[in-house]
Amino acid sequence: MLSTLASSNSNNKNARMMSLLANTPVDADEASINESPYNTSIHKRSNRIDDNTTILRLLNNTPSVSEDTLCLLVLELFQQQPLLFAIPVVNHSNIPTGIVERNSFVELFIKPYAKELYAKKTILSFMNKTPVIVDKGTSIDDIARIIVDAGMQHMVSGFIATTEGQYLGIANGHNLLTEITQRKQASLFHLAHYDQLTKLPNRVLFLDRLNVAIIQSDRQKTHVGLVFIDLDKFKHFNDSMGHSFGDELLIAVAERLVGCSREGETVARLSGDEFTILLDNVKSQRDLDILCNRILDAMKRPLQIMGREVFITVSIGSAMSPQDDDQSAGLLVKADAAMYEAKRSGRNAYRHYVPGMNLYSYERMTLETDLRMALERNEFELFYQPQVLLSTGKVVGNEALIRWRHPERGLLAPIHFIEIIEESGLIVPIGKWVIEEACRQQMIWMKSGLEPMCMSVNISAMQFYQSDFCEMVKSIVMESGIQPEHLELELTESVCMHDVISVLNPLQELHEFGIKLAIDDFGTGFSNLSYLNKFPIDRLKIDQSFIRNIDSEPVNIEIVRAIVALGRSMSLELVAEGVETDSEMNLAESCGCEFVQGYRFSKPLPADQLELWLNQFSAIQS
Ligand code: C2E
Ligand code: MG
Ligand code: MG
Repeated sequence: MLSTLASSNSNNKNARMMSLLANTPVDADEASINESPYNTSIHKRSNRIDDNTTILRLLNNTPSVSEDTLCLLVLELFQQQPLLFAIPVVNHSNIPTGIVERNSFVELFIKPYAKELYAKKTILSFMNKTPVIVDKGTSIDDIARIIVDAGMQHMVSGFIATTEGQYLGIANGHNLLTEITQRKQASLFHLAHYDQLTKLPNRVLFLDRLNVAIIQSDRQKTHVGLVFIDLDKFKHFNDSMGHSFGDELLIAVAERLVGCSREGETVARLSGDEFTILLDNVKSQRDLDILCNRILDAMKRPLQIMGREVFITVSIGSAMSPQDDDQSAGLLVKADAAMYEAKRSGRNAYRHYVPGMNLYSYERMTLETDLRMALERNEFELFYQPQVLLSTGKVVGNEALIRWRHPERGLLAPIHFIEIIEESGLIVPIGKWVIEEACRQQMIWMKSGLEPMCMSVNISAMQFYQSDFCEMVKSIVMESGIQPEHLELELTESVCMHDVISVLNPLQELHEFGIKLAIDDFGTGFSNLSYLNKFPIDRLKIDQSFIRNIDSEPVNIEIVRAIVALGRSMSLELVAEGVETDSEMNLAESCGCEFVQGYRFSKPLPADQLELWLNQFSAIQS
């Protein structure tokens, strides 16, 4: 046995360092181990023992030689065992003190007379005296870092492992590299194919499985079913309760979907709040119907998110291959179209694809492409809707509402594109254009001698959170020449839900500058309203869903009264939005709304038509 060659002779000029290396106990104090940069870092981390990452798996039980072993013997060992990449050297106590690396050592003996010169010398003078010595629990990542920090020199010779300071085995740096690469590849594969939040397969893996399933079903003459699930109003939860809440919600929904599916069905997260399920062997549409109804049922139970009970519904669409489409992309578009149809029917519903359904994804994709050009091509316009102060019957302001004059589709209202520009980030430049254009128009009206009115502009959360938002608004106001108090920014409740500081500072800055601030669509957020006290807000615009049918739905009157009471207690002005009839106007007024806006007076109009309308309106009033 080679290990019997180990002797007690450690008399060497490097003895001090070697003994330090060798005798350092695992929990030695730092002063004693600082002499070796490698050991220092190793021992610090070695308490983290994880079977998956420990070097034990890589270890090679190469027997050691002692420090006084003759070089000739070591050479013979290398010659007898061609796979031996290195030999560890230990002292009399079986503590490793060095390593002899095959290539450099064998090379030494190729030279003429080398054998005569070196054979009788002990291995002590030829070994690498600064081997990487690690404790058996050291992780592979730790060793990799040590090797890299040491300039890769140990990549060739490898490293020695000990248990309680005793020689245990050696491993090749190359094995380590292979191990790390394989592990990285596995984790890269995981990263590329699984959603990190829900741990479900992601779009890439899902499409891959869908493709395979379609090919197989074609061969076996079976059917593939695709279910497309989208959470209803997820954005509201995300905006009002914060992103971590949204994340937890997605995880909980993912779990519930997995619970609804059977073994062999792939549940995937496609993106955001979109999930899909792949059934690779369905007999008929009935199979899909059963699954989708099971999901709708399962979603009726509340989810526990961060200590709260949350109810969320989903809209589901399904499609089947080959009848609905025999290509994966097409099948996805069809299931998405069916899902969109479920949304349109009022959400919390399920639809199977039928020919003729609007292919929403495709439409959305082309719209997004067109939207990217729309600003340069001057295709946006602002329409203006008047706001009336009921006590005087005068128009005191106008809300600027964006329209898109699409070259082929004609005039489009925001419902067709606002979500896309918000999600794509285009809202930042387009929103800036809206403020500029609204201020420009305001200045024209001021100069034309019309009675002073205020211009209200809608602001999306993403715009508001731009770091230069305040500066941008202030400079537009100054350049346009309008009075800051003639501009009102309409923010949604969700903007105010975020952390107080990041919202308060810009709001205060804008307010101190003179700009008015309103909360739009008030009452639809999921807020606890405490933010109203904290922020410098001037007006609440009560959402039209409470004003609409206020005359036939008593609960709406109660809600509007409550909002008015709340607003008044904070000295806020109250605007009723979406007033269409006299009856709605009167009820809104009796509830305490001072301002109204809605079709009862005028639909949003282009600037020139609004001027005509204003003239007529003031003529009637006087
Ligand atoms: P909003 O700010 O709440 O605007 C009021 C919406 O209600 C407008 O829809 C308006 O046309 C409509 N409306 C007003 N009175 C009535 C009524 O009596 N009956 C009915 N049925 N509807 C009425 P519009 O113009 O389609 O805008 C929809 C939403 O799009 C706006 O809701 C606003 O949130 C957003 N939006 C519009 N323009 C912009 C913009 O420039 N920037 C941003 N970020 N959002 C905008
Ligand atoms: Mg608005
Ligand atoms: Mg509104």
